[in-house]
Amino acid sequence: MKIYLASGNLHKKQEFQGIFNEHEIVIPADEGINFDPEETGDSFIANSLIKAEALWEITKQPVLADDSGICVDILGGLPGIYSARYSGRNSRQGASDGKKLQQEERNRLLLEDVAQEISIKNQENRFCRYVCAMVLYLSKDRFYAVQETMEGELIKDISLAKGQGGFGYDPIVILPEYKKTVAELSAEEKNIISHRGKAGKKLQEFLEKVEASK
Ligand code: IMP
Repeated sequence: MKIYLASGNLHKKQEFQGIFNEHEIVIPADEGINFDPEETGDSFIANSLIKAEALWEITKQPVLADDSGICVDILGGLPGIYSARYSGRNSRQGASDGKKLQQEERNRLLLEDVAQEISIKNQENRFCRYVCAMVLYLSKDRFYAVQETMEGELIKDISLAKGQGGFGYDPIVILPEYKKTVAELSAEEKNIISHRGKAGKKLQEFLEKVEASK
């Protein structure tokens, strides 16, 4: 089955193709479709539904969409849906001029923000989790949503950032049971335990059942 992925990200296309390997994953850019919906939702699920519905309206074909981010306990779950826009403690929901910082700068600011919050609250708490909401949108009246997590802890200081794999906040997130940062995992290892990998696997298994019962 041809499934449109509501993303402009080639890295994501490859990840999804690996999970939905019996299907053909196509991103809008592959077909010259201009796709950049405004993510105005207040949750991961709401934003993934906005993306899925917007692409389905264009293609009228099955669509997959996801929305993800990092939620930090001591920051009350922020940056969360604002992870791609996070700009430090004074603009956790993104800078007012809409400018995005380089990821390295975001990582440094997040660790500083958390260190400051720890000292204000006098509570040593670096727990965080990645969250991924994913929607399989078959038609306007028929869609399925899952949300998964990967639990971790933020490193204490940017000088401890490690690893070349993954992307985003991965070099500053430690998985205590592996004693590694997420960026030190191979792509295959990350896919098995990641928020996105787990959500994708659930929808893929579900899709096989839907197909088999047709
Ligand atoms: P989106 O789901 O592509 O909108 O991702 C939102 C943002 O969340 C990314 O730009 C990253 O900053 C962060 N993020 C989501 N998933 C991951 C991950 O697996 N590793 C590192 N950062 C992530």
